[in-house]
Amino acid sequence: MQSSRILTQREGVIFILSAPSGAGKTTLINGLMKIFPGITLSVSYTTRCPRPGEVPGRDYHFVAKKRFAEMQVRGNFAEWANVHASLYGTPRGPLERNIRRGRDVLLDIDVQGASKIKRQYHRAVSIFLLPPSWQELERRLALRGTDRRESIRQRLENARREIRAIMRYDYFVVNREIGEALDSLRSIVIAERLRISRVKKWRLPSLHRKTPFNQ
Ligand code: 5GP
Repeated sequence: MQSSRILTQREGVIFILSAPSGAGKTTLINGLMKIFPGITLSVSYTTRCPRPGEVPGRDYHFVAKKRFAEMQVRGNFAEWANVHASLYGTPRGPLERNIRRGRDVLLDIDVQGASKIKRQYHRAVSIFLLPPSWQELERRLALRGTDRRESIRQRLENARREIRAIMRYDYFVVNREIGEALDSLRSIVIAERLRISRVKKWRLPSLHRKTPFNQ
């Protein structure tokens, strides 16, 4: 590898995005992936059943409890958690391969998972997405009504519990308006990618060369 390229050889960034249901996380993730096609969205394993429209391997790897337990024992998960009575886990292999290769990874995981990832990967960046207000969250949950297993009141209670964990996060973004929230997320991604602490090796190109620093 040319010395000029080494300056910006960096590890991939792990971005964690957590939000209570109804905060608009899926829409924002889709928007973010359009802005940054180079970010890889981690596909979790789960024991819950697929919902209509969900594609195995794209949205989740849907597996039986036995398979999930085997993977737990083998240490295949970077973190796992019990969320709303189903198990969810982030596969360790693809996550570590991507960050080693300098590819950024986005984890859409809950507050328990976020703490576990931060403990193991100290440079991971955690972002908490907030709805504009309780009233607006309640309105969005009522409009959605996709999941009948849980009442709106139950979901609001869950949201309240999750939002209490916000102080453990690095950033918060309020989803008042999609464009504004995407701008905030975009700024976080750009700034975190430019952290000097993520550069693996410093070696400047020799003087008088036209080679740009950011190659
Ligand atoms: P859903 O079943 O609605 O897709 O997701 C329910 C919750 O589980 C969401 O808050 C989502 O962020 C979280 N979740 C999804 N995958 C994982 C994972 O691999 N680990 C953890 N800890 N949470 C996850």
